[in-house]
Amino acid sequence: MIRRSRLPAEIAVLTAVIVALAVTAYVVQKVLFRRRGETTDITRSMDEALGPLILRQVELSQTVLSKAAVDKAFSTIMGRLQPALDQLAPGSPRIRIVVIDDPAINAFTLPGGIICVYTGLMRKLDSAEQMSGILGHELCHAVHRDPLALLARQMGVAALTGILTGGRGGEIAGRLVQTLVNVHYGRKAEDRADDFSVHLLALAGIDPFSFAQALQRIEKAEPNESGLLLWIDTHSPIQERIERARREAATLSATPRRIDVGWQSLLQRLSKTEE
Ligand SMILES: [Zn+2]
Repeated sequence: MIRRSRLPAEIAVLTAVIVALAVTAYVVQKVLFRRRGETTDITRSMDEALGPLILRQVELSQTVLSKAAVDKAFSTIMGRLQPALDQLAPGSPRIRIVVIDDPAINAFTLPGGIICVYTGLMRKLDSAEQMSGILGHELCHAVHRDPLALLARQMGVAALTGILTGGRGGEIAGRLVQTLVNVHYGRKAEDRADDFSVHLLALAGIDPFSFAQALQRIEKAEPNESGLLLWIDTHSPIQERIERARREAATLSATPRRIDVGWQSLLQRLSKTEE
């Protein structure tokens, strides 16, 4: 009798496990990796809840620059890019720019539309327009929620849920920062981000060639800076990216208006201690 009654219980447990696995597989494949424009509420809320938690780890491990002049400059730049972004990709996350005081030539995107820009990258660029080009690329990753999809693939949905529900969340979030600081999403996603940037610039009334110019500036990093050059994926030759960005820009008509940011004086103020 005992044996007979245990059997349905075992089947029930097995069924529960299968259902749980199926639900996880469904979430990963059908929800987290849906195409653009099909972002679900689950994806959006997970993306937006994870962002600030991972940013906290960035703030603990890196020097976040807090200068009124820098905040004002990025606010002016986003003032130009945001309306174009809303037009090009409706329903995008609300964007937040965080500047990190570090010589690395790098920028990366966290979940929830948080874009981290290194002062080492800013110093390589000549203008707010070129900065907008790099931001445009990162904005594409934010719009497609590429960081969340990558983390879900690498860590599993359970680990991400673990961060949100506490416990060892901080420790896991710290590991996620390491993943995202130097991530490349593959040739297809990177090409898509490059193209997106060029179109976004044109739509924002910024010279669409600015992105190709930004790539050229980064390409000219000195040999002794190669260890700092984190933003460029060595599997995706930069010269090809420059040519592709130029070709794309040549197809667009734009009447550029300068962004009202004194870029060179901003760079000079980066290292000064006063605001
Ligand atoms: Zn990228």
